[in-house]
Amino acid sequence: MKSETGPDLLSKDYLLGRFLDYVQIATRSDPDSPGIPSTPGQWDLLNRLVEDLKAIGVEDVTLTENGYVLARIPASPGGSGKTRLGFFAHVDTAPDLPSAANPIVHRNYDGGVIRLPDDPDQVLDPSAVPCLADKVGEDIITASGTTLLGADDKSGLAVLMAVIEALGRDSVIEHGPLVFCFNPDEEIARGMKGIEIEDIGADFGYTLDGELPGEIDAESFSADEAILEITGVAAHPGWAKDKMVNALRIAGRFLKQLPLEMSPERTDGREGFIHPNQVTGTADRAEVRMIIRDYELDGLEAKRQIVRELVAQLQQEEPRAELNLVINKQYRNMRYWLEEDTRPVDYALEAVRAVGLEPKLKIIRGGTDGSNLTERGLPTPNIFCGFHEVHSQREWVSLQDMVKSAETVLQVIQIWAVRG
Ligand SMILES: [Zn+2]
Repeated sequence: MKSETGPDLLSKDYLLGRFLDYVQIATRSDPDSPGIPSTPGQWDLLNRLVEDLKAIGVEDVTLTENGYVLARIPASPGGSGKTRLGFFAHVDTAPDLPSAANPIVHRNYDGGVIRLPDDPDQVLDPSAVPCLADKVGEDIITASGTTLLGADDKSGLAVLMAVIEALGRDSVIEHGPLVFCFNPDEEIARGMKGIEIEDIGADFGYTLDGELPGEIDAESFSADEAILEITGVAAHPGWAKDKMVNALRIAGRFLKQLPLEMSPERTDGREGFIHPNQVTGTADRAEVRMIIRDYELDGLEAKRQIVRELVAQLQQEEPRAELNLVINKQYRNMRYWLEEDTRPVDYALEAVRAVGLEPKLKIIRGGTDGSNLTERGLPTPNIFCGFHEVHSQREWVSLQDMVKSAETVLQVIQIWAVRG
């Protein structure tokens, strides 16, 4: 690399300031809302990001009607590097808990137990959280006990803002054309539904939405959803003998026969699962919704087949009922595309090494915005941004890890500029 990306290049104070501001804005997404974005608070943060980008001199900033901030930075003078890179972070927080955190900075962490003041049951104990035990001397940020911190993914936002700020300040950093995209509703799987790949204008992308320092994710699940509709035969319960067919009882038999060893509660690593996640209905009609996950397409098909066969068997056992199974594709493992051109992942691993961390190539037991982007033609692995225990009141992040994440992004940008 021509330039040095030491810690002094990035403004730690700028990064921390942005982070503390963003986590106080309520951006919890809502799967039951048809709104785009699903909640109005997300507009507050999107507008704030536009203001912040303008304040640090980014000229080409747009906020789309679907709630996507796009900040474009032209290639550095000299024009080295033609590859257009996109970086993504999401503004929403998980629907599980309230957002709008009251953040607490535990400066120069002493290695002790951290008690969150607003709920005495919420305790971060380094003996139970090994990652935390490694953070003595760092600045740990938590919420106060009743909300999410929202480091997922506001650490990604703050990291990228610090990168943009450094690029604007430092003319030594060589880079090709860059686009930074801040999007809504990742947590409810709509993160990339409101934008076209052509409108992003990138050849390769990275999401900043990962956990451990040094972690690069290049695999996600392949995912389908299955919906089983059961129509029974209605009758007055007092005179139902030999007439009624109870849809709820058929739903119960179906659930009982789903293989328990293929459930999320019994699987990990590279194992997939079939997971019933919603049952609704009456004696007349019932609906069982489930999600099916695997890392391989044949594994996914085998699980679909288990569901199909079970439905066929129940239909045979109870011909008076009507069983209707629909399986919808959700997303596919990004590895299928990322292994065709390994540069995005290789360069990210190289960047991690360059900032002095041990690279960890991990698989996500879920999906990311990158799964969707990759499948649609924009290869997008995921880079760590340092958050921990997300989707809980104990969510925390270390400022030093966020700085490492920003340094990694600056390295990636420079590696692409040189190698293209
Ligand atoms: Zn996230």
